[in-house]
Amino acid sequence: MTIRPQSFPLLLALLLGSACAGISAPQEQARSTPANPAERLLELSQSDNRAMQHLRHLTKEIGPRLTGSEHYDRAAQWCVEQFRAWGLDAHLETFGELPLRFDRGPQRGREIAPKTHDLVFQTRSWTRGTQGAVRARCVFEPESAEELTAHEKDYAGAWIVRRARRPRAELRKAIEALLEKTPPAGILSGGGEQLVMSGNPRRPLAELMARPVEIVLRRDHYDEIVASLSAGTAVELEFEIENHIVEGPVACTNVVADLVGSEFPDEYVIVGAHLDSWDGAEGAQDNGTGVCSTLEAARLIASLGVKPRRTLRFVLFGGEEQGLLGSEGYVKTHAQELPRVSAVLVHDGGENPIQGLDVTYAMYADVARVLAPLAALDRDRPVAVHEVMGLLNSEDSDHAPFLHEARAPAFFWNQSETGYELVHHTQLDTFATVSGPDEEHNARVVAVAAFGLAQLDHALDRTDSEALPTRKMGVAGFQDTAVRSVLPEGRAQQAGWQDGDVLLSVDGVAVSGRESLVRAINQGGPRKTIRLRRGATELDTVLDWSDDPDEPERSARAGRREAWLKAHPRP
Ligand SMILES: [Zn+2]
Repeated sequence: MTIRPQSFPLLLALLLGSACAGISAPQEQARSTPANPAERLLELSQSDNRAMQHLRHLTKEIGPRLTGSEHYDRAAQWCVEQFRAWGLDAHLETFGELPLRFDRGPQRGREIAPKTHDLVFQTRSWTRGTQGAVRARCVFEPESAEELTAHEKDYAGAWIVRRARRPRAELRKAIEALLEKTPPAGILSGGGEQLVMSGNPRRPLAELMARPVEIVLRRDHYDEIVASLSAGTAVELEFEIENHIVEGPVACTNVVADLVGSEFPDEYVIVGAHLDSWDGAEGAQDNGTGVCSTLEAARLIASLGVKPRRTLRFVLFGGEEQGLLGSEGYVKTHAQELPRVSAVLVHDGGENPIQGLDVTYAMYADVARVLAPLAALDRDRPVAVHEVMGLLNSEDSDHAPFLHEARAPAFFWNQSETGYELVHHTQLDTFATVSGPDEEHNARVVAVAAFGLAQLDHALDRTDSEALPTRKMGVAGFQDTAVRSVLPEGRAQQAGWQDGDVLLSVDGVAVSGRESLVRAINQGGPRKTIRLRRGATELDTVLDWSDDPDEPERSARAGRREAWLKAHPRP
């Protein structure tokens, strides 16, 4: 955190050291409270930011929050209570139901022979556990019909170890039929270093219970078992997995909390994040961080004791990980209000510092003004507003349903994915991975943005905000700005790009990551000169979208932008 000269309480706190932690916020405010609520909010977000306190409770006291689980319901109830304690009008809204309630219990696994050690593994959500501790030998899944017949009796009661290459569909069916008649102890397969969570919440109970326990081992543990079996060494494992399943239906809820506006109570600025998580760890990065920036923004704004001009609505969605179920449900239930939603701010990118927003020309001046106090507040965590041709819809979080059919301007905060991509949805997503200063910064940005947007004289201007399809480069993914793989017959291949090329600049402007690259490609005219590095050499290439069917709309928007800027000159 950078110390600003005017940040008196913070400076005082730092000078006095930890002894100052005992001074309550109201006393500090009494000494140096700025009259302007926006300034007070900024000050408070530095001197008394409790985002990590919320996160500790959410992840350590409550834990992971799988949709439809008892843990989810506890978390939702706790969030309602927090909002109410801060003076907001909070309640739960049901958006759907699931056939089962699933809560993961303790799970243990170890190798008994040839050596003894604990195993790192995971099971899918909404799958059954073991009945007590189950100790059994391992057998390879058969690779041929002959092998299946020859070893028919070996599979009953054993841990079936899948090989990297699964048998063909016909043999898989024969194996399944045999295992149904003579059940194994369970099925083992190999994951990666990260065990990525998944699961089908809609499988009926009878079908779920008829399936064998499926265990995914961390890669190194799986590889050791495969090596032993391949060498003819007997392998014995023991697993005890206490998954709790209760037949439903189970109601699924969103948490909705309002700070009702004083001048435009039926206009909304929505601050959102998904409360549900996968249950392989603590759901800290994904999306405890978003929940707690939302909670803390609400607490900070409520503590100002000033009603915002338009209603600030805080929504914690359920079912995001199962396909945006909570936000889809919300936009259906609240369809009538969507024309009066000024903005939706969704935080779902983990703790990495929020870097700002991508907005359209007609919103730019308003959003830039709202975020201006944050631009250079923290030297290590700059916040910037960038202009784009239409709001971007990555389709992968709760902003997406709001953007569909241009129902409401919704934003996914710009954040780097570095580190986050290795942790979220895995056994590694714990509180310990979250940096306090980054998460506090995020809560500060969300609070300042939400309050600032709620205080504007008018709702954000939606002109030309409808998402435009992004210009396709013909590349299967980037690692930062390095091309993972060039697709056949795409524009990149036509321009001579190769796998591993590193993109340096677009029309002379340096690109530093995936976000700035996508922004640069999609801004301005259809012909782009792209400088790239290949080994030790740099070369210029041209990608040209002139024949793309979306270009007429892009150039029409560019024309309207020019006219708009003449009528609304930027300061
Ligand atoms: Zn998420």
